[in-house]
Amino acid sequence: MAHYYIWTIGCQMNKADSERLGVLLERLGYQPSPSPHSADLVVLNSCVVRASAENRVRGQLSSLKSLKRRKPGAIIALTGCMVDSDSAPLRAQFPHVDLFFKPQEFAELWRFLSGQAYPDPKTIVPQRPAISAFVPIIQGCDNFCSYCIVPYRRGRERSRPPSEVVAEVEALVGQGTKEVTLLGQNVDSYGHDLPGKPDLADLLVELNRIPGLRRLRFLTSHPKDMKGKLIDTIARLDKVCEHISLPMQSGDNHILRAMRRGYTVESYRQLVARIREAIPGVALSTDIIVGFPGESQAQFQNTYSLLEELRFDTVHGAMYSPRPGTLAARAMEDSVPAEEKRRRLDMVEALQQAIATEINSRLLGKVVEVLVEGQVKGKWQGRTRTNKPVFFAHNGDWRGQLVQVKVEKTSPWSLQGRLAEGA
Ligand code: SAH
Ligand code: SF4
Repeated sequence: MAHYYIWTIGCQMNKADSERLGVLLERLGYQPSPSPHSADLVVLNSCVVRASAENRVRGQLSSLKSLKRRKPGAIIALTGCMVDSDSAPLRAQFPHVDLFFKPQEFAELWRFLSGQAYPDPKTIVPQRPAISAFVPIIQGCDNFCSYCIVPYRRGRERSRPPSEVVAEVEALVGQGTKEVTLLGQNVDSYGHDLPGKPDLADLLVELNRIPGLRRLRFLTSHPKDMKGKLIDTIARLDKVCEHISLPMQSGDNHILRAMRRGYTVESYRQLVARIREAIPGVALSTDIIVGFPGESQAQFQNTYSLLEELRFDTVHGAMYSPRPGTLAARAMEDSVPAEEKRRRLDMVEALQQAIATEINSRLLGKVVEVLVEGQVKGKWQGRTRTNKPVFFAHNGDWRGQLVQVKVEKTSPWSLQGRLAEGA
């Protein structure tokens, strides 16, 4: 019996791709292996959005050399955003890797392993049964933010037809899935490339009708593309959760322009106000890059002040990392020293910890609705509609259930509680 091991790093899209890949490999007769050393096939699903991620992938690739020496018949494959259209440079650097395939080009791996044509993707069970599942709806990105490598590696935007997405979600719900998170680098531009141009709001309306599905989420929204129709649809549909991921990247207009984000501080602020007015209790998360080329102390302070003003539920901060081939790496000097980037990131994280502490502490004593996903260290774990992790202890079996939990303890990252009376 042949065994496979998939190593994954990076965004939710990579995690979703690895899940699918696992199902495909099992259809070819492979069994999961707990470690790369006992596997006959190792797939590395890579991320190169920052140099730190890329360095980890390179480290993993190098450490697999010894596997290949010990077990020359083992197959090593690399996928994810490290794989470019031209794989020759990678081939030269990593001669022990047998196959390079671009994100989601599973057909190539299938042919390589089986020597057979790839089956109709619709006949493939898309993923393993899970209470909460990710469903990619749009691939690639057309935006070309000046710092970002994603459009170069994932190509132009390609949406999946609504009928295909609906069929996949129905199949998942049939297997016990209760929550679906729609994925895309920019879900707000979903459908512009499809006949009749259905948009994300139209897709949400269709999915909201599926019996047995309890919750719907989507990631990531682009502030320049999030329109009133979508906001109103989220507000109106019962299954769509009050949680929006809206990367701000910077709170300074000059930096936003250099980043080519296509919005201003003023329009971002208005958008947040509009969302909060239409969707009471909404949780907002954002991404920030500190130390973008030329970012002055005052410009960083503008970002810091906007974070203080808008008070997000979650902030993912990153230090700017020049990515070869991007406009910023070609044309702008990486002028902020590493220590200064670190200091700015620490400031953002300390501020956010204080804000999240305060926001979550307001839930103390309140009853929240939790979709229970499983058990972690003997406690049931799930999330609120606003995507906050919740833990509670109970002897019953609550997996897949929507329960009411009374919050007894809060932290910036999670809530603890017990099942509410009468639940
Ligand atoms: N499509 C999403 C996010 C894609 S990449 C968006 O429009 O925001 C995920 C996050 O990685 C980004 O939000 C950004 O904060 C970060 N990121 C992307 N490129 C980066 C770079 N060169 N250096 C540091 N952080 C980067
Ligand atoms: Fe990258 Fe910008 Fe596209 Fe997001 S919108 S994936 S940051 S280019």
